Amino acid sequence: MTIGLLKGVNKSGHKGWTTVKCSICHKDIDLFKAVDTGDAYYCPKCLANGREAFFCAADAKRLHYRCPYCGGELKPYYL
Ligand SMILES: [Zn+2]
Ligand SMILES: [Zn+2]
Repeated sequence: MTIGLLKGVNKSGHKGWTTVKCSICHKDIDLFKAVDTGDAYYCPKCLANGREAFFCAADAKRLHYRCPYCGGELKPYYL
């Protein structure tokens, strides 16, 4: 999965793939809602490498916005 694919979700009109799981607590994160609520963070580096590195806002904060896999900076999920 690449960031390009992620951003293409809206354009292509696919509605099937809007929910991801937080990599830490496995809570469901609705990406469409998260665009408004800001309750989703992701690691661009890991996503580019095919790892589903999504985090809820609480865990992102706990991680000090650092990816636990690669140490990279987490980005808020906004389209
Ligand atoms: Zn979480
Ligand atoms: Zn990462």
